[in-house]
Amino acid sequence: MIAFSEPGYRSLLTLIQATGFQFALFSDLNYSLAEPGKRCFMRHDIDVSLDFALQMAKLEHSMGIRTTYFVMFRSPLYNLLSRHSSRILHELRRLGHQICLHFDACDMAEAQHSIEHGLRFELDALAFLIGEKVTAFSLHQPTPAVIAQRIEFRDVINTYHPEHLRGVHYLSDSNRDWRGKDPVHEITEAEGSLQILTHPLWWMSESSQVEGCWDAAVLQNLYSAQEQLLATERAYGERRRFEIRRTTSIANANDVGDVKSRMQD
Ligand SMILES: [Zn+2]
Repeated sequence: MIAFSEPGYRSLLTLIQATGFQFALFSDLNYSLAEPGKRCFMRHDIDVSLDFALQMAKLEHSMGIRTTYFVMFRSPLYNLLSRHSSRILHELRRLGHQICLHFDACDMAEAQHSIEHGLRFELDALAFLIGEKVTAFSLHQPTPAVIAQRIEFRDVINTYHPEHLRGVHYLSDSNRDWRGKDPVHEITEAEGSLQILTHPLWWMSESSQVEGCWDAAVLQNLYSAQEQLLATERAYGERRRFEIRRTTSIANANDVGDVKSRMQD
């Protein structure tokens, strides 16, 4: 079994290489699938931490591997438009990786516009940020209804479109569980090409627990935000050390409100 850790991710990559796969970017999908041979389309959905993404990207780079990072505009934890995020996007590309869009379609349900309009807007905005066309998008926690819509744009791959990745075997590390599959078996036995979805959060955090990975992501984002505050806001004062204390006593929103009002005193 492969451990969910940085060395574990390195052995996953080593296994993929040793079993005869060539890593391919999503922009090369059509070209790659037309060629003989086994391709591995490594996809990273970046839900909560660009810092962990960069850590993973550096590891891949040290092994001569290029992969595709799907980043989000509406992550609950990072701001893709911040200076810190811009620097990471730049660095990911400098290391030879590709940037694509991770899109939260569920959030569109209440909006005035269609999913297609929202997607088009974010694809264009991301292209503006990185200075080149975005060639693929993945949906964040898509409902079966959204997948069934088979959303299509010309020359843009929808990673959940059954035709776009036809014949490509799919493997995902969701919540540190391969959905009951053994990745070593799946990779060694795969005959054709593979799409592997991994989330840097599960591999680059040092915690052995899923909850601990979340804590690490929250803290990492706080520290990154703090670095920008230190650099740009004189009134911020000294560097702080943050810690997370889990508690069951904050049981509802009213209690949180109480905490907030006490902090304002
Ligand atoms: Zn996601």
